[in-house]
Amino acid sequence: MEDYKILIIEDEKQIARFLELELKHEGYNVDISYNGKEGLKKIESADYDLVLLDIMLPDLNGIEICKRVRRFSAVPIIMLTAKDATSDKVMGLDIGADDYMTKPFAIEELLARIRVIRRNDTSNKNDKKMRICDLSMDRATHQVVRAGKVIELTKREYDLLECLLDNKGIVLTRDQLLEKVWGFDYTGDANVVDVYIRYLRSKIDDEYEVKLINTVRGVGYVIKETKNEDQSV
Ligand code: CA
Repeated sequence: MEDYKILIIEDEKQIARFLELELKHEGYNVDISYNGKEGLKKIESADYDLVLLDIMLPDLNGIEICKRVRRFSAVPIIMLTAKDATSDKVMGLDIGADDYMTKPFAIEELLARIRVIRRNDTSNKNDKKMRICDLSMDRATHQVVRAGKVIELTKREYDLLECLLDNKGIVLTRDQLLEKVWGFDYTGDANVVDVYIRYLRSKIDDEYEVKLINTVRGVGYVIKETKNEDQSV
């Protein structure tokens, strides 16, 4: 978790120090700015994973900082506000903050909200759900669905489909597929790729009008949406 960088922008040194200690204790990498302008500069120049942003700052207030950050970055922002006014919260979220905490708050609650933001963040980065046409693959549950129907795949078929989806629209040669799905040390027949492509087609393509797995003659295979007439099999 040391590589998860959090910037605290908070002019009240005691609060900033307290947050820093707690977050470091949780294993986060923490940086502090005691004023808004410096904080904004830090966000511009470094790659933070999360910003804890106080609204009431002496020079540049949190609302203004948040607005400016959103012009160049989607870094998650949790606003920290001493006020409990609903208008402040709404405004914070309107200008692109991801969440807000009203001071004083329990540190456990802040930690929990950071965990939620981290969870959402990784799901975007790893692209847990992949789609093409009416087919979806959920990497979290290993479920493959086409046109609303759950498709049962063997481990190898799943890996092969995952590899094709990871490279959507890109033609992969048999050797590339062999290496990615069967591994470097596979010494068997390269035709195994064609065999498994056939298995996969029989499960996800044969009964559907739109074919997803396409053969590129003399090269390999690609997954993309194709109408029947331009599929070169
Ligand atoms: Ca303040």
